[in-house]
Amino acid sequence: MYTSLVRHSGNRELFLFLELAILSQSRGHPLHIHVEGLRGTGKTTIIRAARQILPPIKRIRGCLYNCDPERPHCPEHRHLSREAIASLGIEEIPMPFLEISASAKIGTVVGTIDLARITNPARPEAALLPGTIPQAHRGIVFVDEINRLADTSPELADVLLDVMGTKPGRLQIEESGLPRVELPVQVSVWAASNPDEDPGSLEDIRRQLSDRFDFLVAMGRPAEPQAVAAVLAWDRGREEDYTARDRKVQEELQQMAALLPQVEVAEGIRELVASLYTKFNLESLRAVEALLYGGKVYIAREGRRYLGEVKELLPVAAAALRHRVEPGRLAEILQHLRTLSEERERQVAATLPVPGERTREGAGLIRGSKGARPGIWQQAREFLSRLMEKFFPHRLGCNRKGRPGRGGGSGGGNRPGSQSEQEEGNSMNKPQISDPSNTPILAPPRRARPLFELAAEDLIIPAAEGEKNATEG
Ligand SMILES: [Zn+2]
Repeated sequence: MYTSLVRHSGNRELFLFLELAILSQSRGHPLHIHVEGLRGTGKTTIIRAARQILPPIKRIRGCLYNCDPERPHCPEHRHLSREAIASLGIEEIPMPFLEISASAKIGTVVGTIDLARITNPARPEAALLPGTIPQAHRGIVFVDEINRLADTSPELADVLLDVMGTKPGRLQIEESGLPRVELPVQVSVWAASNPDEDPGSLEDIRRQLSDRFDFLVAMGRPAEPQAVAAVLAWDRGREEDYTARDRKVQEELQQMAALLPQVEVAEGIRELVASLYTKFNLESLRAVEALLYGGKVYIAREGRRYLGEVKELLPVAAAALRHRVEPGRLAEILQHLRTLSEERERQVAATLPVPGERTREGAGLIRGSKGARPGIWQQAREFLSRLMEKFFPHRLGCNRKGRPGRGGGSGGGNRPGSQSEQEEGNSMNKPQISDPSNTPILAPPRRARPLFELAAEDLIIPAAEGEKNATEG
C-alpha cells in the first residue's frame, strides 16, 4: 500500500519524485530517477508500492509492445489502418511496471526469438518475443542495484544509455536469422543503489549512465523519533482504507497530469536557470534541462499552471544537480537559489498583505491552497508574479553582474543586479498609467473574465487599439 508507508524527512524526496515521474510519464514524457541510499532505508519497498498509484493506459488488445491505438509503433501494428486497429479492439491495462535484476540477461531485457511460435507445428514462424524494456513501453522499468549491473554487464548499461539518451528512447533487437528491429521506447527508468556497497557509486562506475538520470534522489534514515514510532505502530488492519486512499492519489495524479501541458514558465525563471549553467560552470546541459522541466512537473503536481517563483525550483533543484556537480558547488547553487527566493518573497510580501494571521477566512484559504485547487491568495500571488514579471523582469534576480547600466531610460530587463541600481531601474521602468478622469470608458469587447486569470498582456490595451475601440463603440 503506497499511502500506508510512513513519510519522514529521509524519504519524502523519493515519494515526491516517484509521483512527478508518474505524472510526467502519463503525459508521454519519461522521467528517469535514480535513488541512492543505505540498505534498510526502504527504497525498494517505496518504489514497488508506487505500483498501486499507477494510472491505467489504453493499448491495442493483447499487444505485448503496448501499442497506443492512436500511435501504433510495434512491428505487427504500425502499418495497420485505423479500421484494422478498431477491429482488433482496445483494452485498458495498468501502466506497466517491470523489473530488471542486476543479473538479467540481455535477451530477456531486449527481446529474443519466440520459441513457442517457431516450434508451433501448425504454423511455424520466426518472430520476436519482446523483452522487459519493450514490454514496459509507456510505463516503468525498475533496475535495483544499478551500480552492480553497470559493473558486471556493460552491454546492458549500453542498452539503458540508448533507452534513456533521447525521449522517446531507442531500442534495437537483433537475432540471427531475423531482420533487425528498431523500436521507439518511451520508458521511465527508475533505479536504486547503495553507493557504500560494492562496487561503489554509479557515478564512479559509469558516469555517462549516471548523467542520463534526470534526478538523483538521496534516501536517508528518519531523523524524527515520531516517524520511527509510526513505522513500529503500523496497522495492517486497515487495508481497505489504504486501498481507497491509493486510488485517490492515483486519480489526483491523473487530474494533475492534464495540467502539465498548460504550465507556463516565467521568462525570468528561464533566464535564471540558463544563467546557472554559465555562472556555476555546469558540465551537463541535462542539469538545467532537468531543473526547469522538474519545476514544471512540480507545479502541475501542486495543481497549478504557472511557474513564476524561484522557490518553486527549490524542491527539485538538489535532485537535478546532485549527480552533476561537486558537493561544494551544489551547496553554493542551492544557497544562491535560496537567497534569490528570499529576496523575492520580501518583494512580494511588501506588495501583498500576508493573509492567514489576522482573519480566519484568510487562514482557511491558505490552507486550501495546499490541495489540488489553489486558493484565492495563491491565485493573487501568481497574478502579482505575472505582473512583476511583465514590468520588472530583472527583479527575479537573474545575475547580470558585469554588464554596466546604460544611461537611457529604456533599460528594460538589462539592468545590473545591485540594490541601488534596481531601485533606479524601477523608477525608470514604471508603466505609463493614464489619467482616469481623462480616459473614455469602453464596454468590454469580450465576455468578462476574473482578473486573476488574465495574462499580464491582457491588462493593458495599447493606446492605438484603445482609440480604435473608442471610435467603434
Ligand atoms: Zn502493437
